[in-house]
Amino acid sequence: MEKESVAPQIELKEIVGQLKSLLVSHREMGLEPPFLSQAALDYLDSDPLPVDSLTGLREVLGDCKRCKLHLGRTNLVFGEGATKASLVFVGEGPGRDEDLQGRPFVGEAGGLLTKIIKAMGLTRESVYICNVVKCRPPHNRDPEPDEIAACIPFLERQIRLISPKVICTLGRVAAQGLLGQEFKITRQRGEWYSFKDIPLMPTYHPAYLLRNQAAKRDVWEDVKKIMQRLGLEVKNT
Ligand code: URA
Repeated sequence: MEKESVAPQIELKEIVGQLKSLLVSHREMGLEPPFLSQAALDYLDSDPLPVDSLTGLREVLGDCKRCKLHLGRTNLVFGEGATKASLVFVGEGPGRDEDLQGRPFVGEAGGLLTKIIKAMGLTRESVYICNVVKCRPPHNRDPEPDEIAACIPFLERQIRLISPKVICTLGRVAAQGLLGQEFKITRQRGEWYSFKDIPLMPTYHPAYLLRNQAAKRDVWEDVKKIMQRLGLEVKNT
């Protein structure tokens, strides 16, 4: 009984949200519709994702169909870890294992990420791990621009809610998702950038390290910079 009355409300909220995104993007293109009342204009200026917790954000995502990746997913991979983590890792998108389990970085690359986290003197539970897109791209292809555009507002809000001291992006796609398409991973990793005023360190993706052992040294150098910033003890290696 209750279920029947709640579902249309959620659907309506979703439709209003989508309409709002459309009007905001029209306005960004300079297309101000003249017929909007002041109340409607105020609404357009209000927070697009009015939530104050990660649980609330997950609820807003719901059974997300905002991009075509929902068609092939088994589970949406929201992200996991400490809600007030000092360090957030951002990967590219779920792979097969992640899609099946609904958890980020649980496959082979995830095993390596877990080792890196432990080598930093941290645990998976004390950091936060998420991705640029929350659903698995078919055959692990790169997420496409429209898919990233649909998902990134949620990642942005996730990061703002956690408010970490440092973000570490893993691989090209994650760095480009947060820093822009011009970012070149081989030339620009290992330097400090910022995302929404939060220091960001881009490094290689653990899956790349599985294929290129030599790059582990570079990642360790990048990770040491993060450890220094977080005040963690860096042992001489
Ligand atoms: N690769 C990613 O980028 N993210 C995951 O969650 C798993 C593998």
